Amino acid sequence: MDIHLPTLLLFSTALMLLAAGVMTVFGSVQRVYRGYWWWVSAQWLSCAGVALQAGLLPSSPAAVAMMHALLLQWPVITLVGLRRFHARQPLPSPAWVDAALLAAAYGAWALPWLMQAPLLARMAAFSLASAVLHAWVASRLLWAGSHRDSMALRAIGGFLGAVAGVQLGRAVYAAPAPAPAQALLLLQASGVLLAVTVSLITVYLTLLLTYERTERELRDSRRRLRYLANVDMLTRVPNRRRFQELARRVLERDPPGTAAVLMFDIDHFKRINDVLGHAAGDRALKLVSRCAQETLRACDVAGRHGGDEFVLLLPRTDVSDAMAVASRIAARVQMRTEPLGLPPLSLSFGVVQTLAGETLAEALHRADQALYEAKRQGRGRAVTAHGDEDQPVFGESRRLGLTPT
Ligand code: GH3
Ligand code: MG
Repeated sequence: MDIHLPTLLLFSTALMLLAAGVMTVFGSVQRVYRGYWWWVSAQWLSCAGVALQAGLLPSSPAAVAMMHALLLQWPVITLVGLRRFHARQPLPSPAWVDAALLAAAYGAWALPWLMQAPLLARMAAFSLASAVLHAWVASRLLWAGSHRDSMALRAIGGFLGAVAGVQLGRAVYAAPAPAPAQALLLLQASGVLLAVTVSLITVYLTLLLTYERTERELRDSRRRLRYLANVDMLTRVPNRRRFQELARRVLERDPPGTAAVLMFDIDHFKRINDVLGHAAGDRALKLVSRCAQETLRACDVAGRHGGDEFVLLLPRTDVSDAMAVASRIAARVQMRTEPLGLPPLSLSFGVVQTLAGETLAEALHRADQALYEAKRQGRGRAVTAHGDEDQPVFGESRRLGLTPT
């Protein structure tokens, strides 16, 4: 098959211009990340190399030299971009090694030119130097094992490894080439085709990396927003709205009337704020929520109802077990106050059993009535309520350790 090198070069230049142009336009109109413009620069330099050869006499040594000089940088400049792109999770080995290797590669490539070696030997030197650089960069990416983007990096690493193999093949072919004219043409054509392939695949890979990063950032920020919307930032328990959502889910799933609802708050909490300051008040709120969470089972639901008031929904729990839970929370809080520099804290609880056909709001209202009754009876206690919300009947009232003063 006859290869018309000038046509191939023109065609390749057009494709590489397109590739570099697409990346440039994309980078100008879309959000891109650190390192992106290094990839674009590597593309433009390669493109310039092929374009220069297309513009000059294709087989002239000067054209070949310029193309090689501009193509050789590609893997290392691309790696510089990748290192910047992954600045928070560095790739293996320091960046200066890349620079040293690139300098050594240019030295090895320049030597046959300085020694006026035959053109084929100069091409073999270029291919060998390029193979080493590609293999080096591929190894950096393939070794980035536990990296967050390890799949994408491995794909790029595999691709670069393949390019290194092809370059090595070209070097081996060029070294003892029997028919210089034919070999020269074949080497030039394959070199140009390789540059075009690398250029086009680079567009795809860099856009893929950028897209994946954007996707992940969006996912992360959605997760953060969901967390902020659902969790009370001070106590790290679900806020009122989220508690209601979770509690309704449990009530719909379980047989009616099998859950217990507890509402509790800190006795005379205002005094802690007034006497010791808001920071101490915040510490007390955190302690109480932590003690409640440590006492609960995985299936229980806790929430901050507002201020110093918390709510609990205990699925498949009767009132007497719920009273025991209240005692355990109060005891745990009492044990932990002193090391935190807090005064003794007492809690008051309202405890109810959910009723068949009752809404969550109704159960919470009854628990609130029981809590109010616990306060009325002197605080530091848990009180149960039966009957409906219009006519609550208060049952057991259990003292919980401390009596508040
Ligand atoms: P009672 O025994 O009747 O519950 O009396 P109390 O002093 O605890 O009264 P109440 O429950 O009404 O007090 C709630 C206080 O909690 C009022 C408010 O200033 C304070 N508060 C609400 N949110 C926070 C918070 O996030 N941090 C702090 N430090 N204080 C808060
Ligand atoms: Mg209170």
